[in-house]
Amino acid sequence: MDFDYSGKTRDLIARLDAFMDAHVYPAEDARHDFVIDPANLWQEWPGLAALKDAARTAGLWNLFLPHEYGAFSPGLTNLEYAPLAEIMGRVPWSSEVFNCSAPDTGNMEVLAKYGSPAQQAQWLTPLLEGKIRSAYVMTEPQVASSDATNLEMSIVADGDDYVLNGRKWWISNFMHPATTLLLVMGKTDFDAPRHAQHSTIIVPRDTPGITVVRHQRVFGSLNSPGGECELRFDNVRVPKENLILGEGRGFEIAQGRLGPGRIHHCMRSIGQAQRALEIMARRVDSRVAFGKKIADQSSIRQDVAKGFCEVEMARLLTLKAADRMDKVGNKDARDLIAAIKVVAPRMAQEVCDRAIQAHGGMGVSDDTPIAEFFTINRFVRIADGPDEVHMSQLGKQKIREYVAMNEGGPR
Ligand SMILES: Cc1cc2nc3c(=O)[nH]c(=O)nc-3n(C[C@H](O)[C@H](O)[C@H](O)COP(=O)(O)OP(=O)(O)OC[C@H]3O[C@@H](n4cnc5c(N)ncnc54)[C@H](O)[C@@H]3O)c2cc1C
Repeated sequence: MDFDYSGKTRDLIARLDAFMDAHVYPAEDARHDFVIDPANLWQEWPGLAALKDAARTAGLWNLFLPHEYGAFSPGLTNLEYAPLAEIMGRVPWSSEVFNCSAPDTGNMEVLAKYGSPAQQAQWLTPLLEGKIRSAYVMTEPQVASSDATNLEMSIVADGDDYVLNGRKWWISNFMHPATTLLLVMGKTDFDAPRHAQHSTIIVPRDTPGITVVRHQRVFGSLNSPGGECELRFDNVRVPKENLILGEGRGFEIAQGRLGPGRIHHCMRSIGQAQRALEIMARRVDSRVAFGKKIADQSSIRQDVAKGFCEVEMARLLTLKAADRMDKVGNKDARDLIAAIKVVAPRMAQEVCDRAIQAHGGMGVSDDTPIAEFFTINRFVRIADGPDEVHMSQLGKQKIREYVAMNEGGPR
């Protein structure tokens, strides 16, 4: 493994850092004040469009797409993308400035990998251009959706169409004013083997029959402008050509989608933990309690040291996972992807927890971004598969491997 950044990556890191310094960090307060104002609910902060134009012009666009895709992407490997995603993670909304925001990134990868030429022309091109946004519609309220074989939404063929019926919840980005595309997972064959029952289908957001049942709050926040929604689908009709890849291929698509998406979340978590440590250091260095700087308290120094060790460990594990994905593919790197998906958000949550404590009352406010980082990393431990599910699969794989290693007798 060679974790030295290539010349290409070093150049992109310098340009991205410069862009963040010039345009993103200075806009944080204005963007925050806009999105928390109830009068602006479900509206995008007006400053975003100019930042997206500037990023596109600067060639800092679609950096996530891990292979050449025409004129739209610089074609980075996962290893090359990792430090860039970490930088964007320092300001969670900034991924969108560079067209690198979930859930669009995963949806673009699905369409790039599995979409038909017509599907790509209609939906992938405007996504890659940053003209539209999208949602991924999988989780259902009435079944344990961490086991995706439980999903019950029915997708039934009827003439030239498919008709969808069922319930969904926790659908991120549904409310975003630019969202026009939904990628929906449901069942096309209730009698097929368990992993061949589901399919993924394109549903335009304004298709009749889709109702918002309620807006869900995450730790009290509506997460405007994207939001999280509970939805009902009543006889939602779309043409048959909207099916991606074919009936029964939903699991294959979900697997292909989630590998890169998971590691992107982890890279951003590391950026948040790193920034929380930096903000914490500045705070404790500037405040005095009981006659000395808070930074001079041993327990505070240990918290910063612990944070440094944890961030470094998680960063190295992420780079190793990214390197394996590049060398052997997402499937064979699944153990490392699972490992980092469990390690990175928990680590970031704990680092942020200590940074909150070191700020006193200010730590739980929105005067710093740390409280938001804490809540993001808390829910990332559930979204894209809860920790326990990754650990269960990882543990099963490792037991099998370790047993096989000793088949000739214990070493
Ligand atoms: C903020 C947020 C945004 C989200 N965005 C989206 C989105 O855009 N689109 C979408 O489709 N979904 C989205 N989700 C949903 C998310 O992916 C699911 O919540 C997640 O997959 C878990 O499914 P569930 O909620 O049904 O939990 P369940 O399946 O009911 O699981 C509950 C708990 O059971 C335990 N458990 C489950 N399996 C095991 C096991 N094998 N071993 C031990 N314990 C286990 C775990 O502790 C787990 O957390 C989002 C969720 C959140 C919180």
